[in-house]
Amino acid sequence: MAHEEDTITAIATAQGPAGIAIVRVSGPDAFTVAEKVAGKTPDDNGRLLRARYATFRNPATGETVDDGILLLFRAPHSYTGEDVAELQGHGGRMPSARLLDAAIAAGARPAEPGEFTRRAFLNGKLDLARAEAVMDFIGAASERAAAVAREQIDGKLSKRADALFDAIVAIEADVEHLLDFDEGEVDAGFAEEAARRCRAAADSARQLAAGWRTGAYLREGALAVICGRPNAGKSSLLNALLGRDRAIVSPVAGTTRDAIEEATPIRGIPVRLVDTAGLRETADGIEAEGVARAEALIRRADLVLEVIDCTAEDAEEEAARAAERGRIAVMNKSDLKGSATLGGGGGGLLPPAPPDDTPSCPVGPTLHYEARGRTTSGQQQDGIVAVSAKTGEGIEALKEEIGARLDNGTTANGEAVSARHRECLEEAARWLASAEAALEQGDEGLVAAAEGLALAAQAAGRITGRVWGEELLDAVFGKFCVGK
Ligand code: GDP
Repeated sequence: MAHEEDTITAIATAQGPAGIAIVRVSGPDAFTVAEKVAGKTPDDNGRLLRARYATFRNPATGETVDDGILLLFRAPHSYTGEDVAELQGHGGRMPSARLLDAAIAAGARPAEPGEFTRRAFLNGKLDLARAEAVMDFIGAASERAAAVAREQIDGKLSKRADALFDAIVAIEADVEHLLDFDEGEVDAGFAEEAARRCRAAADSARQLAAGWRTGAYLREGALAVICGRPNAGKSSLLNALLGRDRAIVSPVAGTTRDAIEEATPIRGIPVRLVDTAGLRETADGIEAEGVARAEALIRRADLVLEVIDCTAEDAEEEAARAAERGRIAVMNKSDLKGSATLGGGGGGLLPPAPPDDTPSCPVGPTLHYEARGRTTSGQQQDGIVAVSAKTGEGIEALKEEIGARLDNGTTANGEAVSARHRECLEEAARWLASAEAALEQGDEGLVAAAEGLALAAQAAGRITGRVWGEELLDAVFGKFCVGK
């Protein structure tokens, strides 16, 4: 695909009405293209960056397409590391398309997705993990996702991945060195020490991989499905969690016949909340279809909120069953029962289901926890949260519980790694384990250990691109947008 000798161009700004649009040109002929379109050269006094006002013309037709600012960045002092020209004209679909056409008429070819960043990588401007973080930053759907991506652009993940790679390469070098000695000449304690280093490296690879789920949620959002019997208050709960009216609330059972989806950030994770139709067996065709869809959604969900009307006779059994299945049991309508005993601030996590004869929501002053305060782990595990979608009581506690379920590890030792990083890390950990096992056999295992370590290094090296091939770059940059 990409030939670095080509000069490429693309619109770098979003399409649509806007103050400014930027057409970026990168490659050996970038300044020639700029001269043909804008009639300006960078001068030859060696300045690294030039900004000049210019009239932009299409060299094929001679027509004036726009006017604006021409920025010239001299290699290697540019995003791509090549000569770069940025033509800044008026925003909007047509003005930017005209400017792009002019750059193409002047000899540039349209860039492929991610081609600018690919060149930046090839010119040593940024590593692979940092390049991927650029895309995460652009696509971030919450403040936290943006903050995490920004840290990774600055190299937070790369530093750890490179340290892992360096550690593996160092063990490999030591093992290879030992292969030059004759049997018996090797210090007996050496293999043991190398095995220990393999174990430590594997541990740090696994630790780093542990944040993958949070990473995936931050990048793609998490899917939380709200289910429960008709009239339990699913739509009301969706509205309460969103803090506004989105779903239709109706006292008639089975009113919600379609899934309604809305996203809201919880602990900085964009959570896609889906309100399903009532999970009720019915002869009504439309509702039966809704039930089937709800069940399909539940299978795909990252988290299921089962809404239970706490005034229902079998509410406690239902809640215990839901919690047992790993769902969050949302005991709704707490205002109807036990509200007098709910302390100010509202809501909390319930203890395990009481004996069957307990008639109401078992919420009392001694069992009340502050909405933001985490309780002891035993109570937290229960996964039963009392709320009133009507008054808002307990909604914060429910959000805390949702956040706690979705957020695992990134704040501890993990990093918000992507699925690709996780794959590399797990592969590295597997090869490190096999190298460790080989080293435990002493001298005989050295050759196998060296092989395992080389493969572990290859896997770890693919995270930041210390080890790369065209296929890897195609896979990574193919996901980018054109113009980035
Ligand atoms: P869905 O069928 O599960 O989506 O239930 P809805 O959200 O449509 O609510 C059913 C009925 O219960 C409506 O009349 C709501 O006003 C009422 N409701 C929902 N949540 C609460 C609550 O927390 N307290 C009280 N008192 N009523 C509620």
